[in-house]
Amino acid sequence: IDDEETEVVRDRVTTADGRAVEVAANVGSEPELAPASDRGADGIGLFRTEFLFLDRESQPDEDEQYEAVTAALERFPDDRVVVRTLDVGGDKDVPYLDLPTETNPFLGRRGIRLSLGEHADLFETQLRALLRAAASDVGGDLAVMFPMVTRIKEVTDAVATVESVATDLEAEGVDHAIPELGAMIETPAAASMADALGDRLDFLSIGTNDLTQYVMAVDRENDALSEYHDPLHPAVLRTIHRTTTAAADADAWVGMCGEMAGDPALTELLVGLGLDELSMSAVTVPAVKKRVREVDVNEARELADAALACETRAEVRELLEE
Ligand code: PEP
Ligand code: MG
Repeated sequence: IDDEETEVVRDRVTTADGRAVEVAANVGSEPELAPASDRGADGIGLFRTEFLFLDRESQPDEDEQYEAVTAALERFPDDRVVVRTLDVGGDKDVPYLDLPTETNPFLGRRGIRLSLGEHADLFETQLRALLRAAASDVGGDLAVMFPMVTRIKEVTDAVATVESVATDLEAEGVDHAIPELGAMIETPAAASMADALGDRLDFLSIGTNDLTQYVMAVDRENDALSEYHDPLHPAVLRTIHRTTTAAADADAWVGMCGEMAGDPALTELLVGLGLDELSMSAVTVPAVKKRVREVDVNEARELADAALACETRAEVRELLEE
């Protein structure tokens, strides 16, 4: 979407009838920080820490990670910065980490599975940097989320690791704080268990790139099957709705940081589905903010209900075109 023409909106936005919707940016490298604030993003909804680990010979140490995160917080003094813990494996390789060779990498050791398994040391270092950054008064509020969650145990183990890192920092007399904690909803299992996840966490963030891949059983990279990888398929929409409903019942806020969130043609539908926050590539922030301001929540809910009642992606697309 080329929307260089759309006027930048600095303020936070609400729908026409007053519901607040945060419009944040996804950041996958240091140079993306400035454009994110220039385009009027209400903070960062997905800070992909992978970039700190790529194109080098060894992993970044605690101080380097601390500096990178505080630089993001400085950029957004009045907003929230959601940092995702390392999400490698699957299609994302980091040579010096010696990731396992697997027959089905997308179904193998990736994301939180590695952080709780063979890369527990790396996870602890990352959490030390994050808990220190959460205590710094340089700017915005830090939030931390875990990728590729499938089981409640992963979340309870991750939260226990956060707590033990806090205990270590306390014993060392190092300034620290526990940030808001959340899980990415990228697997059908996590969506099914969203009520229990929401009870244990402050927020959930739906990653529709992977969620579509796992709901539709289709490789997100396989162009020959791209028509299967459609977040507008009712099966995906129903999975999203299940998540937003469970989050609301659990008093957890719920965002979306998959590519779907950045399409202004889908903003009304996503507001109707109950998303509190949408996070996207910086370039689409102005167009989505503009669109949020035009939405009427009751109409958006009716649109979402109609989409949830559809049986095919074609029907959903037809509905959106009307
Ligand atoms: C997603 O899966 O939707 C997501 C935001 O994470 P990534 O694209 O980095 O896997
Ligand atoms: Mg993902």
